[in-house]
Amino acid sequence: MAKRIYLSSPHMSDEGYEKAYIQEAFDTNSIAPLGKNVDEFEKELAAKVGIKAAAALSSGTAAIHMALKAAGVGEGDIVLCQDLTFSASANPIIYQNATPVFIDSDYETWNMDPKKLEEAFEKYPNAKAVVVVHLYGLAANLDEIISLCKKHHAMLIEDAAESLGTLYKGKYTGTFGDYGIYSFNGNKIITTSGGGMLVSNNEERIAKVRFWATQARDPARHYQHSELGYNYRMSNVVAGIGRGQLKVLDKRVEKKKYIFEFYKRELEHLEGLEMMPVNEWNQPNFWLSCIILRGKVRPINVIEALEAENIESRPIWKPMHMQPFYEKYDFIGEGVSEDIFNNGVCLPSDTKMTDEDLKRVCDIIKGLWN
Ligand SMILES: *Cc1c(COP(=O)(O)O)cnc(C)c1O
Repeated sequence: MAKRIYLSSPHMSDEGYEKAYIQEAFDTNSIAPLGKNVDEFEKELAAKVGIKAAAALSSGTAAIHMALKAAGVGEGDIVLCQDLTFSASANPIIYQNATPVFIDSDYETWNMDPKKLEEAFEKYPNAKAVVVVHLYGLAANLDEIISLCKKHHAMLIEDAAESLGTLYKGKYTGTFGDYGIYSFNGNKIITTSGGGMLVSNNEERIAKVRFWATQARDPARHYQHSELGYNYRMSNVVAGIGRGQLKVLDKRVEKKKYIFEFYKRELEHLEGLEMMPVNEWNQPNFWLSCIILRGKVRPINVIEALEAENIESRPIWKPMHMQPFYEKYDFIGEGVSEDIFNNGVCLPSDTKMTDEDLKRVCDIIKGLWN
């Protein structure tokens, strides 16, 4: 069997930065939750993206949960959430006993359509918060979404789980909303094996999240709790991996961009094939290179042809309004997310791929047009 090519797998630094930070944690017995790596990872990530405060958490999902709680979302509140996304964008809305309403995407960004968001605000003028996603590292139409949130007094949460390193008009995604979240899950652009970060310019709310995320222990010698707590903090060992990975983030973005451009050069001329949209105000991190197929070659043909050669690819996220669990919630849209889902494929975008690997993938895909 030929060498396995992955969609996106962990890629530790050649320099061994991650191991050095972990070694330091071992040498100082800072294994237990919290410690220098956690504090420094928060500061270093905040400095990198240009925001005042960050809280390192156990996952991106936990970060979305804490963002909703910090934004004041509670029982019965309406949250307007992007429809085309991974379920973790929406699940924490349910954890908070709030009600999601799903908003369609547009073809220009693949992300939340501001026109549909406006319609949703007309129908739900008291919507408490908006969860926008920067899918596959493509930035959403933030200017318009922000102005709608301001106009309707709704909090904006950016799910930047897939877009760490993406710039919108020169500024990092995740730093525009009231809260932003990043994920360090194993397949994300940088990984800690598992983890997440909540960021905000509201330092007081971030401090509050750290409190909730460490079991909400009141400052008393005995164990006293005035609020509901969670065990959501990142461990000091894991944070060491994150500090090392952050040093190579720019390199990973560069390679992801190279992969996208390689595919574009090789595949864009094929009948009925389109690359994912990149706007001029958008400097994506190209987390995954995605294509749309509108001709005789269907997504399943590409996925199966690659799988037969031990190469991983996958469909586009299945929209939330089509998920059995979420079907009963309202959806404001016209089938754009469904169309992208039906016709899209995520191509292998692993930063360890060589030119030879990329050529192998392209040759298999081109073969389907013969
Ligand atoms: C990965 C991902 C998450 C969840 O992050 P975890 O760290 O895996 O909990 C949330 N939203 C999107 C869009 C994601 O891709």
